[in-house]
Amino acid sequence: MDFHELGLTGPILKAIDSENYDKPTPIQKAVIPKFLNNHDIVGIAQTGTGKTAAFVLPILERLIKKNKKNPPKSFPVLILVPTRELAMQIIDKIRTYGKIIRPKAVLIVGGAKPGPQIKSLKDGADIVVATPGRLLDHVKSKVAYLNITNTVILDEADQMLDLGFMPSIKLIMSNISKTKQAVLLSATMPKAVRSLANEFLNSPEEVNVAPAARPIDLIDQRVFIVKREAKLKFIQDIFNNHNVYRSIVFVRTKIRANKLASKLKISGIDVDAIHGDKSQSQRTRTLKKFRIGKLNILIATDIAARGIDVDNISHIINYDMPNESEIYIHRIGRTARAGKSGIAISLCDLSEKRKLKSIEKLIGYSLYAKVLNVSETLTLGNAKKNITVKDKINTKNEVNNNKEAKSTKKRNLAKLFTKKAKKRFAEKRKKRIRQDLHQSIDQSNIKSSRQKDKKLNNHSVNKRKLSVKKKLNKRKSFLNLEDAFYGKNDN
Ligand code: AMP
Repeated sequence: MDFHELGLTGPILKAIDSENYDKPTPIQKAVIPKFLNNHDIVGIAQTGTGKTAAFVLPILERLIKKNKKNPPKSFPVLILVPTRELAMQIIDKIRTYGKIIRPKAVLIVGGAKPGPQIKSLKDGADIVVATPGRLLDHVKSKVAYLNITNTVILDEADQMLDLGFMPSIKLIMSNISKTKQAVLLSATMPKAVRSLANEFLNSPEEVNVAPAARPIDLIDQRVFIVKREAKLKFIQDIFNNHNVYRSIVFVRTKIRANKLASKLKISGIDVDAIHGDKSQSQRTRTLKKFRIGKLNILIATDIAARGIDVDNISHIINYDMPNESEIYIHRIGRTARAGKSGIAISLCDLSEKRKLKSIEKLIGYSLYAKVLNVSETLTLGNAKKNITVKDKINTKNEVNNNKEAKSTKKRNLAKLFTKKAKKRFAEKRKKRIRQDLHQSIDQSNIKSSRQKDKKLNNHSVNKRKLSVKKKLNKRKSFLNLEDAFYGKNDN
C-alpha cells in the first residue's frame, strides 16, 4: 500500500517523498483513512512507529482544502501532548510535512514566557500544539478560544495521566464542541485513559498496532548488577573504553542528573543534563546541541526524555533502573530507531533487583544480568546475538518452567506446614485436656475428703460427688475418642 492510496494528495505526497518514506507504517495505514473519513480514533501506539505522521498528515490534508481565515485567538486543530519536547518535535514535523502548504502552527507550552505565545495566537492559527496546563491558563485568561476547535489529538495520553494533567484535559475537552473529531493515542491503556476516551470520544474506531519489529528486539540489552556506589566508576568505564557515538543516560531524579553531570565533567567527559528544573531555553539549547552532534552524552530524567526523536543514538544507559517497567521500553526505544541497532546498558544495584525482575516479566525473557565487582572493569565485548522469536519463546518457557517449579515447591511446603501444624495443634489440645482432667481429679479429691470429715452422711455431697464422677468419666471417654482418632502413637 502506498501513501496516495490512503487518501493523501499532491503537496503532502511531495513532502513525504522528500523525506524518503517508502511506505506508510502500520499505524499510518490504520489511522489516516479513518481520520480522513471523520471517525474518532482510540489507539495504542508507541513512539518510533511513525504515529506523529499518522495524525499530522491527514490534518494537513484537510488544511489544503480550507480557505477560511481563522478568527482571532482561535484555531481549528488542537494537539495536546505531555511534554514541551514532544510538542516541539510535533511542530517540527508539521513544518516538515507541511512545507508546501505552510500552515500556521503555534506552540503553547509551560516553562516559556506566555507573552510571545499570546502574540502568535492573536490572529488565530491553523494548529496549536500545547501542553494542557499552559493552554488552560490561556483559555482562562481569554487569550485563547476553543470555539472553532473541531479536531483534537490527545497524544501520549497515558503520560499526560501520569503527570497529573487529567483534570486540565477534561476541562479543555468540555469546552470544545461535542461535534468535534477526536483522536486519542497512548502507549498503554490504563482505566483512566479508557474512561477519558469513553467520555469525550464519539464511537471511536479502535486501532492497536504493535510495531512490526518491536524496537527492543533490535537492541543489544546488557544488565550489570553493581554496587550503588560503584555506578560512577562503571559509567566512566563505558565512556572511556567504548566507542560511544551518541548516548542518553537516564537517571531517576533531577538532583542525581545534576550530580552525575558535574562528576562526569570533572573526570573530563563532556556531558550535559536535561530535566524539568532547567529553563525552556536551556532545554532547547541542550537538545539542539545533542541533535546536531555538538554534544554526545545527554543525562536526562524520564520527564524530559520521553518523545525525544534523535537519530543514531548508539547507547542508552540506565544509570538508575526505571520505577515502572514500561518506562524501560520507552527509554531503550530511543536507540535502534528506524530499523537501526543499538545498545542498552543497565546498571542495576541490589535495591533495584525487583525492578529488573518486573522488566523481565514485561518483556517476556530474562536479561541475564552479570554481577560486577568494584575491582572489575565494565566491558561490553562482542555484540550480543539478537534475541530471535524462537529464542524468546525458549527463554519465556524457561522463565515459565522456573516459575512452575517455584510454585510447586511453595505448594508442597505449605502442605507440609499444614500437616505439621495440625499434628502440633492436636498434641497441644490433648495435653491441655489431660492437665485439666488431673487438676479436676485432684481438686475433687481434696474437696471430697474435707467434706467427708464434716458431713459424712450428707446426701447433697454424695450427689455432687456423683456428678463430678460423671463429668470425669465423660472427659475420659472423650480422651479415648481422641486417641482413637489421632492414634496412640501421637501421645
Ligand atoms: P514517531 O513514532 O512519530 O516518533 O516517528 C518515528 C520516526 O519514524 C520519525 O523519525 C519519523 O521521521 C519516521 N517515520 C515516520 N513515518 C515513516 C515512514 N512511513 N517510513 C519511514 N520512516 C518514517
